[in-house]
Order: sequence, then structure tokens, then C-alpha cells
Amino acid sequence: MGMISIALSKGRILEETLPLLERVGLRPKEDPENSRKLVVATERRGVQLVVVRASDVPTYVGHGAAQLGIAGGDVLVEHGGAGLYQPVDLGIARCRMMVATRRGFDYQAAVQQGARLRIATKYVQITRGHFAGKGVHVDLIKLYGSMELAPLLDLADAIVDLVSSGKTLRANKLEPVEEIMPVSARLIVNQAALKTRRAELQPLIEAFAKAARK
Ligand code: ADP
Ligand code: MG
Repeated sequence: MGMISIALSKGRILEETLPLLERVGLRPKEDPENSRKLVVATERRGVQLVVVRASDVPTYVGHGAAQLGIAGGDVLVEHGGAGLYQPVDLGIARCRMMVATRRGFDYQAAVQQGARLRIATKYVQITRGHFAGKGVHVDLIKLYGSMELAPLLDLADAIVDLVSSGKTLRANKLEPVEEIMPVSARLIVNQAALKTRRAELQPLIEAFAKAARK
């Protein structure tokens, strides 16, 4: 039996993932948040963690380079989910994908008038799908971070981004105006690996499902 690799998101999700890993019996042998190592052994022989950029998790798992992964629903919808099973909603890293504008911008009126909206986001697919569904024409401006800045500098009329407390929006004179979808992190599994290595993977999937319900 080969090694099982679990791809984890750097950044926000990792913090909430660690207690879950502990409950599943996969405590890392070094602190993955502070270690410079990208591959970290766990207390279970044959299972290792690989720590990658959040948006790269579905790519590693989809290609079978990692057999399991933990990724945000935002990243999964944006990626498309090819080659992946998503058997467990882990209920962690909860937030909402929202449209936000500058305070005082009349979003509903702009939509009703059929104005062409400039939207800055790193979630290009999700944003395109959302506005196509509403029949609103948008000019998408792809950013890689700090989306909140775009309306302030009049790069865009609105942004599409994740919101939890809304503090970052408020600090930048923005307000949420529409929810696109709720987001939480999910366990993902390479589809081919689940067929060829089910005996090894199924117990892990069940352990994650049980740990997530607690
Ligand atoms: P990156 O900057 O690489 O996108 P983040 O740490 O900002 O990394 O986000 C990683 C993941 O954490 C996202 O894909 C999302 O699922 C989750 N996340 C991001 N922002 C929040 C938030 N405000 N509340 C809860 N979860 C979040
Ligand atoms: Mg971020």
C-alpha cells in the first residue's frame, strides 16, 4: 500500500482543520502552519499532509497527486470539481459568497436599469454564472486579492468575495448587497483512487464524516 496524501489549504481553513485532524487521528508531527515543510507526516503511518494554496487543493486531488483534500466550497465551485467526489461537508470555515458595493451605490437600481456593471473578483466563474443567471451584463475584472480596494479606487462598481463578519467590508466603506451562496469547507476525494483504494480511503472518509458531526 502506498502513501495517502491529504491536501490542505494554507491560510484560513487550516486553523479550523487542525482540531478536525486530531479527532480523526491524523495529528501532524509538526505544526503545518509554521513549518516551512510542505509535506508533513501524521501520527498515522502511511498518511501525510501536503499544504498548498487554497485554490490548488482541487487540482492536486483532481489529478490524483493527493487522494484526499479539504477545500472551501468557493474554490470547488470555481474549479468545477472534475475528477472529485465531495462526500462530506465539514461545516468549518463557514462564510458567504456575496456581492458588495460602495455604501450608497444603488445596486438594485443599477440592476433594474440594465446598467453594465464592472465587477472585480478572483471568482470569475462563480461571478459569470451568477450574473448570467440574473440576465445582468458584467465586465469582469480579475483580481488575486484585496478586492475591497477596487470600488474605492473606482476600478469596479462592485466586488464578489467571501464575507463572514463583514468587518473588512465596513472598514473599507463597502456593504454586502446580495448573497450568491453559503460556503463551507468540504472533504474531497479523487474519484479514481476511491475505486482502486477504497479499503484504505473509506474508513478515513467515515472518520471525517463522524468528526464533522461532533
Ligand atoms: P487565499 O488568500 O489563498 O485565497 P484565504 O485564507 O483567504 O486564502 O482563503 C482560503 C479559504 O478559506 C477560502 O477558499 C475559503 O473557503 C475560506 N475562507 C476565506 N475567507 C473566509 C472567511 N472570511 N470566513 C471563513 N472562511 C473563509
Ligand atoms: Mg484571502
